[in-house]
Amino acid sequence: RASVKKITTGSQALDGLLGGGIETRTMTELFGEFGSGKTQICHQVSVNVQLPSEKGGLSGKALYIDTEGTFRTERIKAMASALGLDPKEVLQNIMSIRAINTDHQIAIVEELQDIISKDNTIKLVVVDSITSHFRAEYSGRENLAVRQQKLNRHLHQLVRLAEIYDLAVIVTNQVMARPDMFYGDPTVAVGGHTLYHVPGIRVQIKKSRGNRRIARMVDAPHLPEGEVVFSITNTGIRD
Ligand code: ADP
Ligand code: MG
Repeated sequence: RASVKKITTGSQALDGLLGGGIETRTMTELFGEFGSGKTQICHQVSVNVQLPSEKGGLSGKALYIDTEGTFRTERIKAMASALGLDPKEVLQNIMSIRAINTDHQIAIVEELQDIISKDNTIKLVVVDSITSHFRAEYSGRENLAVRQQKLNRHLHQLVRLAEIYDLAVIVTNQVMARPDMFYGDPTVAVGGHTLYHVPGIRVQIKKSRGNRRIARMVDAPHLPEGEVVFSITNTGIRD
């Protein structure tokens, strides 16, 4: 695992939980309720990946697949400025793509292979969120098996990209406060359950008091389980 590189999240505590930061060659899943901060972390890491290695980045670019329309250029600019980076330049180094449905989302990831093989400066791929279109299009128990099959294939493609091109993949997954209401849907299973049959790191994000958030490591193969606290501030993710 010596060749794995890390991208800082902006919080030393969260980096510590992750064994130094968001890893390359791995898919990291952020799951949690609406408003827990999944999208904020994705924005922050898209900025931070551009930092030089001595500041916790990979001097790389990001590809941001936005399925919910929550990508905000203004937020990127604010986070960039706070780090003393040129906001325009930082924004140019984040290719954001709005995916309108599952087929589109899958097609984008299939095309990434081509894009990334021609541009080895791409060091981060974000899919925010991985599950929203799948849930909307394949609702109902009778569609669950087909949906999981399609989703698993999609996730495996992302894992493969991470491994082949030594880049970090972050996917988000919104879960409900009352997962028992969605019994039988494996993507809603909160806790120690295995969501998908793909390798990777799973981190649960939970709301705490005010701008404080709790991150919990869930069944990581090579990292200890545990919880840390971080904050979402107007300048971004911090301790
Ligand atoms: P999720 O993607 O998990 O649904 P978000 O990442 O969108 O949640 O987090 C939303 C939360 O982030 C807001 O409720 C707010 O607390 C915080 N947040 C968003 N923008 C800012 C900002 N500019 N300054 C401070 N906090 C912010
Ligand atoms: Mg979000």
